[in-house]
Amino acid sequence: MKHGTTEQGSPKILLIYTGGTIGMIEDPLTGALRAFDFTYLLDQIPELQRFGFEISSIQFDPPIDSSAITLDIWLQLASTIEEHYNTYDGFVVLHGTDTMAYTASALSFLLEGLDKPVIFTGSQLPIGRLRTDGKENLITAVQIAAERTPEGLPMVPEVCIYFDTHLLRANRTIKCSADLFEAFASYNYPSLANAGIHINYQEMYIHRTSQDAQKKLRVSKTMDPNVVVLRLFPGIPQEVVQTILAIPSLHGVILETYGSGNATTEPWFLDLLAQAIKRGIIIVNVTQCLSGTVDMSRYDTGIRLGQIGVISGADMTTECALTKLMFLLGKGLCYEEIAQQMQRPICGELTLTPNTTTHK
Ligand code: ASP
Repeated sequence: MKHGTTEQGSPKILLIYTGGTIGMIEDPLTGALRAFDFTYLLDQIPELQRFGFEISSIQFDPPIDSSAITLDIWLQLASTIEEHYNTYDGFVVLHGTDTMAYTASALSFLLEGLDKPVIFTGSQLPIGRLRTDGKENLITAVQIAAERTPEGLPMVPEVCIYFDTHLLRANRTIKCSADLFEAFASYNYPSLANAGIHINYQEMYIHRTSQDAQKKLRVSKTMDPNVVVLRLFPGIPQEVVQTILAIPSLHGVILETYGSGNATTEPWFLDLLAQAIKRGIIIVNVTQCLSGTVDMSRYDTGIRLGQIGVISGADMTTECALTKLMFLLGKGLCYEEIAQQMQRPICGELTLTPNTTTHK
């Protein structure tokens, strides 16, 4: 379904409504929140028309709660942006908050060569509620998607999340609160912009390629779902690790370790990991801490993981490392190539330090 407001020469923005609280209303019978027709959303924010932008919208049919998101939907979303890429100056994706950090991270990898803004937003309270945070989030996200530099280039040619006054690089975000309006955080990379009376862009943190680079959008069509997140905890049973690593279709593991990348050095644990790596399973070390980086050279426990071939995920979030691995495996690259690319930034998702490149 498409709605449009048009005015010649003004920025063209495509709103893609996938679902989530922002477009939900209360069911009069049960009181539960359910998705409503997107027309309702635009009706709720007539202010959007005052920008004078050309705003069109597409709605997922049916809109989904983001906890039901799938890899197919990520690929579909990327294809939708590809299909409309040349017609619009910027894209705003309305998405449920629960898995927004995953979807936005995935899109940052799928949309290679992106040079237009793709701004994700949503809300903690439905748009129809008096105290909704959805209006400000949506209005500012649209403004950011349309913003240009004095040279007429897109101000933020990246996949981002805009939420509660902060513009964050998508693949650096996590959902950090189930009920605060400040629902997203980026602990390892600064905000790209902060919105108060003015929207203050932090230009030094925004990734922009040179004008001569002539980038062309390339959109990946496959991702590999055969990946698991294994979060360590004290006393994790051998059987649990063994069973997970023995999954026949398994291609990759995001290993959530302690602190700067430490794990138990019990022989059974290291042996199981070493055997899995020998079978070609990629194991990436990310920290359970909210901020900071994996540094496998810091403690003996980390060194031992590096020695058996565990790859450092540096300061990537779990959401980012997981989607990046699905993306790289989906490209059908060989083990060494994936190991290398997991340790290098593709689109600003990790910080290189002297100690982050530890393997291969
Ligand atoms: N469960 C909702 C979703 O993620 C929550 C939200 O939108 O904030 O779709």
